[in-house]
Amino acid sequence: MKLHEYQARDLLARYGIPVTGGGVAVTSAEARAIAEQIGGPVVIKAQVHVGGRGKAGGVKLAQNPAEAKQVAGQILGMDIKGLTVEKVLVAEAVSYEREFYLSAILDRGSKRITMIASAEGGVEIEEVAKTKPEAIIKISAHPTMGLLDFQARELAFRIGLRDGKQARQFAQIASALYRAFVENDASLAEINPLVVKADGSLLALDSKILLDESALFRHPDLAALHDPSAEPEAERRAREAGITYIKLDGNIGCMVNGAGLAMATMDVIKLSGGEPANFLDIGGGAGKEKVKTALQIILSDPNVKAVLFNIFGGITRVDEVARGIIAALEEVPTNVPMVARLVGTNEEAGRALLAESKLIPAATLAEGAQKAVAAAHGEL
Ligand code: GDP
Ligand code: MN
Repeated sequence: MKLHEYQARDLLARYGIPVTGGGVAVTSAEARAIAEQIGGPVVIKAQVHVGGRGKAGGVKLAQNPAEAKQVAGQILGMDIKGLTVEKVLVAEAVSYEREFYLSAILDRGSKRITMIASAEGGVEIEEVAKTKPEAIIKISAHPTMGLLDFQARELAFRIGLRDGKQARQFAQIASALYRAFVENDASLAEINPLVVKADGSLLALDSKILLDESALFRHPDLAALHDPSAEPEAERRAREAGITYIKLDGNIGCMVNGAGLAMATMDVIKLSGGEPANFLDIGGGAGKEKVKTALQIILSDPNVKAVLFNIFGGITRVDEVARGIIAALEEVPTNVPMVARLVGTNEEAGRALLAESKLIPAATLAEGAQKAVAAAHGEL
């Protein structure tokens, strides 16, 4: 679960991390009132669950309350990467001399919580990783002892902080960020940028926290922060239907039962020269309604140029899946070509049901993926 910036900020503040104040506004008049309280120049920031808001025009400075009202009016209602801005954070504008990056993540490679720091802050860390990988410093915390003080200090030194007081403050922030990560069952806790102000002190200007949903039951206070309006429509529908759905950038929609099979399906699509539009797992024993919802979700993505069904019927019955596909196509007629590889329990019945449809049959996953790739290119 993603937290909004202002929620992440409040959480980090509880760990003693210095953050900017300010408040959240849902109307431009409220933004103006907050700017009046702050008194000086403010920064207005879209509260949407996407990175790179700055570049997308979702972060703007305003010199006075009147300008704050006008700028908030521009940002509220704006569409950023498919999400509508419903809230803005109005915070005092800070002038600073340097921007750092600092985060805690779960590194699957080392199986440890890993701190990442960089002197190249302010831009997306993926960019730095591509263009200047040597500027990224990683230190893994000890599995039982946690992030040790010397490790936190080492991070500070390795990003070039030589001033003792500043390095100490950075180390304190890194330790606090690590604690916040662990105690709240996060999967990411990121400060970008962490800035050095003119007086030499550090301040977290933007923060991002992702929480592990499987651990939310331990944190009812955090679960309550969930903002359904901030969730893309397709993800909300999938969550409510008990479907695991993750949108990706490709054009081949996938409907699969089982997470492992879904990953394998994506791999084989890539191997065949295609790009999956999503990861979608309808789970075991999915009935007609679930299949119908899943197909509607897949087709709601305008990038989807072909659909591949890869169903291995065990508990899930192939004929049930076929009924779901037929029901969905009755409600959402589409010209998107669909390839189906359906094997396992009741496969004959399932295939018979689909014989009348326009679905393109495939006997194996490899054949299904190749046909889906060809179909996405309009070659089938
Ligand atoms: P992101 O683009 O979604 O990561 O949003 P950020 O909150 O990180 O803002 C993007 C950029 O806006 C930052 O890297 C800064 O360059 C700038 N910015 C944000 N807040 C302030 C501020 O208080 N003062 C100044 N001068 N720039 C800011
Ligand atoms: Mn940022």
